[in-house]
Amino acid sequence: MSLMIRNGEIVAVGSRYKADLYIEDEVVTRIGKDLEAPPNTEVVDATGKLVFPGFIDPHVHIYLPFMATFAKDTHETGSIAALVGGTTTYIEMCCPNRNDDALEGYQLWKSKAEGNSACDYAFHMSVTKYIDETESQLRQIVADGTASFKIFLAYKNFFGVDDAEMYKTLELAKRLGVIVTAHCENAELVARLQQKLLAEGKTGPEWHEPSRPESVEAEGTGRFATFLENTGATGYVVHLSCEKALRAALTAKSRGVKIHVESVLPHFLLDKTYAERPGVEGMKHVMSPPLRAKHNQDVLWDALAMRSIDTVGTDHCPFDTEQKLLGKDSFVNIPNGIPGIEDRVNLLYTYGVKRGRLDLDRFVDSASTRAAKLFGLFPRKGTIAVGSDADLVIYDPDYRGVVSAQSHQVNNDYSGFEGMPIEGRPSVVTVRGKVQVRDGKFVGERGRGKMLKREPSHF
Ligand SMILES: [Zn+2]
Repeated sequence: MSLMIRNGEIVAVGSRYKADLYIEDEVVTRIGKDLEAPPNTEVVDATGKLVFPGFIDPHVHIYLPFMATFAKDTHETGSIAALVGGTTTYIEMCCPNRNDDALEGYQLWKSKAEGNSACDYAFHMSVTKYIDETESQLRQIVADGTASFKIFLAYKNFFGVDDAEMYKTLELAKRLGVIVTAHCENAELVARLQQKLLAEGKTGPEWHEPSRPESVEAEGTGRFATFLENTGATGYVVHLSCEKALRAALTAKSRGVKIHVESVLPHFLLDKTYAERPGVEGMKHVMSPPLRAKHNQDVLWDALAMRSIDTVGTDHCPFDTEQKLLGKDSFVNIPNGIPGIEDRVNLLYTYGVKRGRLDLDRFVDSASTRAAKLFGLFPRKGTIAVGSDADLVIYDPDYRGVVSAQSHQVNNDYSGFEGMPIEGRPSVVTVRGKVQVRDGKFVGERGRGKMLKREPSHF
């Protein structure tokens, strides 16, 4: 089966031009003007549309046991939501906790995805403890194609690692050529501040942010950077939320530390007043690092435009209203997370590109290409070129709509971005040459997604 995309304006990093794309056997095989095609080729007319490489979300949670409950999406619902929103590949955090066996956890996470995802996917392997078996287990996991790790400096006694474990993980990662992603908040300070606030009777969701202030994230970011500096490993800060933490990362980068930065959708568009809303409305907007004071948003947008922030992910993590209410008596029991997998591309396009904060090149780079390069997926993913997978987003910049839980595909009863207008959305989305989405609806093949095997590349 072959597919022709006619007359679109192709936008990839470093290039923008009008052409036809011809796709055969899952990859782009020809790019040019007025291409000829065999008679039974499926044709998509992209006149007036932008054609982007499929977008990559480098940070999602799909299967996630957390705080005695499970995030709401499955790979079936999460991947459809991703595709409708233009994301054709996601990288899921594989998160066994400290009491679980790492290899068993890895197999469990893989089994949840296999045969169920409609888009391609990969994993970051969380290292949540470092014991005798860890090195051999991680070597097996890397050999299986999962060439990135995740560590948590936060979530003491659950996901979190101490400094010794962080050192050992980075030292091994350096030897294996694996990039290490990190959640950077000081676990001890978070625990102490939570206790202090609760002892003062401060239990509502508005106290979540003060329990993990900007300085706590900046300390974690700086410490991670120092450990990278002293091991020579390559690191990637996930969901960096504020100016203080950004300074810590950039200071390290300026002295040659191999540190990359991701920020996630909520921190660009939502501020801490959302979590200060009364009751469950506030709880819906609790994530970690928390939503911050508004002035940080301009800092993040500027840093993104200047490439100081490499990528935009979501930290997609849907807990519904009932689950959020587990924290009604204490903010420390609110399951952390805001869903966003479906909204990232449209909101970044609307509030970045259309508002003049991002040019199209940086938009494509930060939402697709850069992640592909950092995580060993390029040029198979993240670009439009002969030989690359035909993951394509034919984007309608004239579409007007509103984000709402009433119409979204995510398996959750609210949206963190409810009511936000969008100016643009995918009209057709393909996964390896198969049309999976048309005009906001999934029309494709469930279970089409494959796990993407990746080689270490950070030596
Ligand atoms: Zn996360």
